[in-house]
Amino acid sequence: MNTRAAVLHSMGLERPYNISQPLKIENVNLDPPGLNEVIIQIKAAGLCHSDLSVIDGNRPRPLPMVLGHEASGIVVEKGRNVKKLNIGDHVVFSFLPSCGFCSYCESGKAALCEPGNIANANGTLLSGDRKISYNSKYYNHHLGVSGFSEFSVATEESIIKIEKDLPFDIAALFGCAVITGVGAVINSAEFKFGETLLVIGLGGVGLSAILGAKAAGASKIIAADINSKKGLLAKSFGADIFINSSDNDSYKKIHDITNGGVDTALEFAGAVSAINFAFKSTKKGGKTITAGLPNPKSLLEISPVELVGQEKTIKGSYLGGSIPSRDIISYMNLYRAGKLPVEKLISHKIKLDEINQGFERLAKGEGIRQIITF
Ligand SMILES: [Zn+2]
Ligand SMILES: [Zn+2]
Repeated sequence: MNTRAAVLHSMGLERPYNISQPLKIENVNLDPPGLNEVIIQIKAAGLCHSDLSVIDGNRPRPLPMVLGHEASGIVVEKGRNVKKLNIGDHVVFSFLPSCGFCSYCESGKAALCEPGNIANANGTLLSGDRKISYNSKYYNHHLGVSGFSEFSVATEESIIKIEKDLPFDIAALFGCAVITGVGAVINSAEFKFGETLLVIGLGGVGLSAILGAKAAGASKIIAADINSKKGLLAKSFGADIFINSSDNDSYKKIHDITNGGVDTALEFAGAVSAINFAFKSTKKGGKTITAGLPNPKSLLEISPVELVGQEKTIKGSYLGGSIPSRDIISYMNLYRAGKLPVEKLISHKIKLDEINQGFERLAKGEGIRQIITF
């Protein structure tokens, strides 16, 4: 079948993106689904910083690629061996397929799924195939989703069936922003009722983490960003205090406010300086969780004496350390109960043809989640 999709042909084009147009809207071909694959009619897709990191070259991926990794939609076609999905089901994508059989999947660490990560790195589906083409030339899939498209082919293991009561724009948020942010608090930090939390980097994922910490009963939430305009926004999501983290000594303010540092510091800014700030703001015996993805060439320098002498833990968090099929459904139930008001994340609704303007807005730090609706 044919579908309109946003394709990235080269990374690192000059801004503004509304002029350089890094994403081209093309009429591409989708091959029929393989035995374990489905075709999804995309209804909503969010613009995430991780897409921007591919566009600006900070997170290189094989090109050409149909971007987009946070999306929801309807199953319209399925392969012969697909068991858990039916035509007409409403679904959300997980941006990492979990094969269910590797040693990581079997030990409950779906975010580390070996075949899933290999497929994502290669720009293929879990089967190793590519299903998007243009003039017989195959394009790469983005994290098994490629949601900036009217239709997409995906493996069953990338898809979570959801209830039909949830609007598609809300549902899409759970596939990246919510699962990554809330999951970092609940799974990676194992955050406990009454603890204190610092969140650094106030995009969609960081703000979701604030919502998660609020729902988990944080006693104090401190939000930090280098953009002071994010202060009021963070407070509207439940942060108690905002700190501008562009100053090198910002961690001292955290120590003053919390009497020695926070129980957990979460970093979503994707900068080494932000990880250092998180580590220094963590109290003795506390946890530093880092989920931002700086350029792959950057290295982290921390004081081993501080790590050992203060018994700090530093830990990475990918996909919120989540089991998507379990966690997306449970976070959706929290949303229905009014305890996770994720609708606040949606700042703009745009059309596929406005995608380059959308990424320019994101690069400028404007808005939170912009959702393409189809
Ligand atoms: Zn994302
Ligand atoms: Zn696996």
